[in-house]
Amino acid sequence: VTKFHADLAACPVPRYTSYPTAADFTPAVGADAQRQALAAVAPDTPASLYLHVPYCRDICWYCGCNTGAIGREQRLGTYRDALLAEIASVGAMMRGRVGAVHFGGGSPNVLPASDLYAIADALRTAFRIADDAEWAMEIDPRTFGAAQADTLAAIGIGRVSIGAQTFAPQVQRAINRVQPFGMVADAVHALHASGIGKINLDLMYGLPHQSCGDIVSSIAAALTLAPSRVAMFGYAHLPAMLARQRMIDGAALPDAEERFLQSELAHRLFTAAGYRAIGFDHFALADDSLARAEATGRLFRNFQGFTDDPARTVIGLGASAISQFDGVIVQNEKHVGRYRDSVCGRRLAGVRGVTRDADDRLRGAIIERILCDGHADVAALCRDAAADPARLSPAMATLESLEARAIVDRRGWALHVRSDSRPYRRLVAAAFDTRRPTMPALQSVAI
Ligand code: SF4
Repeated sequence: VTKFHADLAACPVPRYTSYPTAADFTPAVGADAQRQALAAVAPDTPASLYLHVPYCRDICWYCGCNTGAIGREQRLGTYRDALLAEIASVGAMMRGRVGAVHFGGGSPNVLPASDLYAIADALRTAFRIADDAEWAMEIDPRTFGAAQADTLAAIGIGRVSIGAQTFAPQVQRAINRVQPFGMVADAVHALHASGIGKINLDLMYGLPHQSCGDIVSSIAAALTLAPSRVAMFGYAHLPAMLARQRMIDGAALPDAEERFLQSELAHRLFTAAGYRAIGFDHFALADDSLARAEATGRLFRNFQGFTDDPARTVIGLGASAISQFDGVIVQNEKHVGRYRDSVCGRRLAGVRGVTRDADDRLRGAIIERILCDGHADVAALCRDAAADPARLSPAMATLESLEARAIVDRRGWALHVRSDSRPYRRLVAAAFDTRRPTMPALQSVAI
């Protein structure tokens, strides 16, 4: 049983989908750095593609993604043309071998079938994509049907992530995302009928008016769909930063202890149902590649969360998409109009980012192992990086207080987050972060 520590659970801490995090991006790193990094990718370097579609039919009030309502339908066509231009330019510069393609957003399934075919064809023409690459897509089940499932199968999508979040009607109303369970079930059945069997479900805790009872009933319903993976995200209420979240009644949010109980409950229910706990907020069936990766110490973390994709080079395509290279992280322009002007003018769209020196890479590797495995051999990671572990002594020393609270054990240079303290992994990882921003409103709470 995980112990509730009120001060730790409420502590603002990054999700560490990268290190340095997006909070460290500056305009000093942009298209020039992006061009040099793309050109420096050696032939056959494993790489992944992430393609962002920043549109949705309706906007959910909790959403932290870079997306907006479609409005005029012709916007989709203009955006498709911009994506095609960027795919051609970036593909001509990058010589890596692509092992995974991920469509995210927003809701990529707002694009009509003809656009999805055109984009998939363009990707295959521009990049060297392995025959066995996994193609995955996030979808909104509220606008999904059998014809779309057939389209996804035809363009090669083998895994689909469905945003379900909760099945409790009063919570759905409070977050402006009304989708009865039957709608999600219909989407899953349509995908199965089209031959797409790998289904990820996204659920959330900590939502307005959400109770532990709602968590139990939503998870019971989710389990009837037998998803191969589940992400159980804690809602991050950051209204100072995300205007749409101001529509959410802050007084209706569960308090820190209730959030903690909801997260614990989810962990117990999924593990009791045979799912393997992955990192601090994912679950996967034992035969899913994410569970196999976790069991063999080959789990990784990137901008999409926990992943079995070993590629360290991620090429982001689309407005706001982030590209990750060994020495630099670069984000594309978020504003769709300015993004389009850049890529249609044959310019790269990177506008902000951060360089990663050897110390960042070492700290990033330690943080990744803590989040993915719950333990890190700091001396071994220093050896791999040809670094003196002494520089990490201050970080190891700051873990003393967490050790006193029986959250982490230190043995020399090895540290181990106790198995009953899984939810506190981000806090342990934060000990190695020398760049933590000072604005708590920009970060989510630990649990
Ligand atoms: S459908 Fe998904 S991406 Fe779109 S607003 Fe809702 S949560 Fe955000």
